[in-house]
Amino acid sequence: ISLANQIAAGEVIERPSSVVKELIENSLDSGADQLFIDIEKGGRRRIRIRDNGSGIDKDELALALARHATSKITSLADLEAIQSLGFRGEALASISSVSRLTLTSKPAQQTQAWQAWVEGRDMQAQLTPASHPDGTTVDVEDLFFNTPARRKFLRTDKTEFSHIDEMLKRIALSRFDVKMVIQHNQKVVRQYPAVAQERALERIAKVVGSSFSDTAEMVDNEHFGLRLWGWVAPPEACRHQGDVQFLYVNGRMMRDRLLNHAIRQAYGDTLGDDRSPTYVLYLELPPAEVDVNVHPAKHEVRFHHARQVHDFVLQSLRGVARGATS
Ligand code: ADP
Ligand code: MG
Repeated sequence: ISLANQIAAGEVIERPSSVVKELIENSLDSGADQLFIDIEKGGRRRIRIRDNGSGIDKDELALALARHATSKITSLADLEAIQSLGFRGEALASISSVSRLTLTSKPAQQTQAWQAWVEGRDMQAQLTPASHPDGTTVDVEDLFFNTPARRKFLRTDKTEFSHIDEMLKRIALSRFDVKMVIQHNQKVVRQYPAVAQERALERIAKVVGSSFSDTAEMVDNEHFGLRLWGWVAPPEACRHQGDVQFLYVNGRMMRDRLLNHAIRQAYGDTLGDDRSPTYVLYLELPPAEVDVNVHPAKHEVRFHHARQVHDFVLQSLRGVARGATS
């Protein structure tokens, strides 16, 4: 059982930022709009996420941790099949197999919060009563404590935290309505208050810096069911910010070759310089036009009418980046 989980963990849980991603996806799935994220030592000591979502019923706490992973890998053929699909649907089981994980939850309809605890191969059968507001906290301590090879692969606390920070930025730019408070080593390092859609640029300023938002030009173009909206800025505005290249396809962050090409070409045509386009962009298209599950971990996407999407993005951005410089 635990072996299967640990194999799965190797696939999904590469480093602390992968844990953060999986836990926050669960929180958002549960309807949370407030996330409190506590990281210690780049995530190797602790990753704790508290949300105000639907919570998990007392009867389902153990199940949430044990989930499906067991029956899936019974033969080598199964293992190969799973690897090609990726491991979705067993994040908690995977994470708990390579850490000391405490899950505490209180659905609104329950008067008492309950807690379950797993450490590597050992799951504590007994639930204990706990004190917790409506919602869920997942506390992941000592990641990879029982898998030395993985632990050795981790970089410095600073580097691991910067991976986490980058992951949190991606999430913060995809959900303006979700409040996020981020601590590293007991100090608040980021605070993203929830904002209404019309004030998205305030969130963007907080996440990627005001040198971007101060010079950014808005884009909003719609054509044949495709819509591209967001902001682009001239490259020089963000020279000291690191890359500001955020592209979402139907709400999911993507790095896609076709779209990158269209964006660079628009910059090149407009500014004669395609080196470092700077953007926060949202592409929306009918779900039937796009296959986002090509490779969940690699953020790849397949468009059914690729050429059309490419040209739409190019046309939407051509000229806008120049507008931003003037
Ligand atoms: P998946 O999300 O694919 O179902 P996970 O292992 O990530 O698999 O989570 C298992 C289950 O635990 C979820 O389906 C959900 O029912 C429950 N769960 C996990 N995290 C939360 C959370 N923060 N709030 C509410 N329910 C949660
Ligand atoms: Mg999940």
